[in-house]
Amino acid sequence: MREIFQLLFPVACLVCGLPDAQICSSCHRIIGPKIRSREIDGIKYWAGADYGQQLAKVILLAKEENNTPARNFLADLIVQTFMAASTEFNTENSLFIPIPSSRAANRTRGFRHALLLARIAAKRIEKSGIAKIKVGELLHVNRTISDQSNLNKSERAQNLSGAYSMNTRKKVSNSELQDHSIFLIDDLVTTGSSTREGLRALYEAGFGLCGVLSAGVSLGVSTRTFS
Ligand SMILES: [Zn+2]
Repeated sequence: MREIFQLLFPVACLVCGLPDAQICSSCHRIIGPKIRSREIDGIKYWAGADYGQQLAKVILLAKEENNTPARNFLADLIVQTFMAASTEFNTENSLFIPIPSSRAANRTRGFRHALLLARIAAKRIEKSGIAKIKVGELLHVNRTISDQSNLNKSERAQNLSGAYSMNTRKKVSNSELQDHSIFLIDDLVTTGSSTREGLRALYEAGFGLCGVLSAGVSLGVSTRTFS
């Protein structure tokens, strides 16, 4: 029976394993897109989906297993958040700044996760002719940081405090950014400590941001701050 299924549906869903599309219609329905937006401390956040078992699997596949369909799915969620942001800002010319990962994580993975998401999303937006997007890897992690996944909110904030700096090798001049809307790009907002640290570093360097675009948001962790 399994063989017949595989003949009929050669692709199995990445999330639930059922023979169907790379992300089957029921997993797709569960994940979204479900656009969430919220202003926190004067900065606007947009997320493309709520964090749950299905989205967690997709993020894990993209981030730790370099899975292209999973990465494309996350990039599409970011494209949706950009469309939502475009109803509030003039995003015709925009700059995407990916949230950096630790050097150790980049080395182990062999790629820079948020940078790839930003690039794919930018390419798709440009292809549709909606906007022109620059991707600037302007932030980097300047010291050793711990893996955030097992830390609570205050531990995460402490772990990342002062950990991001401007990437001096990727200078972008102010004139180059004139009339650009600037967005931080991440796969998932949980406690918001990475985005807060990213905003701190960018504000100190004189950048004014329009907002944060993320594929997902963890409502379980941050219902009170993000809904
Ligand atoms: Zn599925």
